[in-house]
Amino acid sequence: MSDFKKDILEILFPSDFKCVCCGEEISNEDFLICENCYKKLPWINGKVCEVCGELIKSESKLCMQCKSKLPYFKKCVSLFKYEEPISSLIKNFKYNNATYLQKTLATFILKSFLKLNEKVDVVIPVPLHYNRFKHRGFNQSEEICYYLKSLLNLSVNTNAVVRKIDTQTQTELNRKQRCENLKDAFVVVDKNAIKNKTVLLVDDVYTTGSTLNEVAKTLIKAKVKNVFAITIAHNTIETNLLEEFKK
Ligand SMILES: [Zn+2]
Ligand SMILES: [Zn+2]
Repeated sequence: MSDFKKDILEILFPSDFKCVCCGEEISNEDFLICENCYKKLPWINGKVCEVCGELIKSESKLCMQCKSKLPYFKKCVSLFKYEEPISSLIKNFKYNNATYLQKTLATFILKSFLKLNEKVDVVIPVPLHYNRFKHRGFNQSEEICYYLKSLLNLSVNTNAVVRKIDTQTQTELNRKQRCENLKDAFVVVDKNAIKNKTVLLVDDVYTTGSTLNEVAKTLIKAKVKNVFAITIAHNTIETNLLEEFKK
């Protein structure tokens, strides 16, 4: 069909539901990605570090980073490489007010959780500082826990941990700077809610792991039993390979 005809049809019979990747019309109004685009998403299929989920090439079970120092969380699982179109979907959801993507991203988090395959007692979305929460109007990590709460009936706790330091944006920082930047940024305000429990941390993107690690450290210090983590996408792939190369 020509674009012109499509445009006319669109005017006559507007359809609300289009694939967010290619624009094709779809019937699944919740998920918003067509079958074709779904198959082509940047799924993580290769061999990954058993702890942090980093893609690895070596025969070893751990990536270089986990080998040199294990994180405070037991295991982190991500569904995708942080590449297009996933990166754009996440950015649009976070910064461009694309709230219609909530259920799409929540489906991915649900899938990450099934891939993790661990029993957890409480889900904690990585907290935003109050200032950023006020500015953005929502916490993206909290929103993507939608299906964990509504389908799996998992308890989601958004009050037990707070971000007390409004850390500067981490995007431009390297791993070491990120760790410095995040030092003591989180605090447990409700120890009883998490004591001796297995916690699942939820975040949108695993960048260097320093945010998840800092929250996990805060939780472990507050006598949490175990910490697992899930994210939609994982971003350190090249960085790590590069680091491995430098050694
Ligand atoms: Zn599509
Ligand atoms: Zn690792």
